[in-house]
Amino acid sequence: MDLMLDHITLVYPDGESTVTAVDDVSLTVPAGTTTAVLGPSGSGKSSLLAVAATLTTPTSGEVRIGDDVVNAPADGGPTAGSAVSADAARLRRDRIGIVFQQPQLIASLTALENLELMSHLRGERPSTHRNRALELLEAVGLRDVAAKRPGQLSGGQRQRVAIARALMNHPEVLLVDEPTSALDHSRGIQIIELVTRLTRETGAATIVVTHDEATLDSVDARVHLADGRLVGAGEGAVARA
Ligand code: ADP
Ligand code: MG
Repeated sequence: MDLMLDHITLVYPDGESTVTAVDDVSLTVPAGTTTAVLGPSGSGKSSLLAVAATLTTPTSGEVRIGDDVVNAPADGGPTAGSAVSADAARLRRDRIGIVFQQPQLIASLTALENLELMSHLRGERPSTHRNRALELLEAVGLRDVAAKRPGQLSGGQRQRVAIARALMNHPEVLLVDEPTSALDHSRGIQIIELVTRLTRETGAATIVVTHDEATLDSVDARVHLADGRLVGAGEGAVARA
């Protein structure tokens, strides 16, 4: 299903005044495609991703997966930055895969167990989806290190485990924040190529946030943020006014 960001604005309180982190951003990411969101530090990339991920409620606008509204201001006024409900947590677990800048793996678990943990969070036995976990480790080129713990893996390998983990629950939306910032250039390119390939194969609608345009040859579309606003037409992007 397509991911739609519809006139998203996010205003944070900042002492006596406010900061508009995201300013009226509309963007459609078709299923099976990857859109890169570029922009300098502080331009609102992570804030936009947090709204798309349903981690933060927008001040105005809405996020849709297909026809379902999955994130919008709560009734009764602006709630920027407010904690989200149990419903949102469930939706995030079942429909949205998230890869943070730091892979956030559990250090005491093996790569395989980090993936199987996703089944556990759904209330299922961790081993229920062992085949899925092994398939995904294969897909990210890590089948042979399934039994290793994060401390025994390189930074790029850990990021691959995090990408595989984000895909465990067959998400319709995949959101990836600066996956290459801790990697050298060629590994950065490989990670983005991996994300775009898995996006095509799984049919997810994917946003990858980065400030490194040089790694982005394989993405389907790119948009630029400056001061919270989309700037320029956005090559290949389905950006709407
Ligand atoms: P980027 O990911 O592009 O570096 P961010 O989304 O982190 O940008 O930040 C966008 C703007 O919002 C910045 O001015 C930042 O200082 C501000 N901001 C981000 N998070 C918060 C917060 N929790 N509270 C207040 N201001 C914030
Ligand atoms: Mg950021």
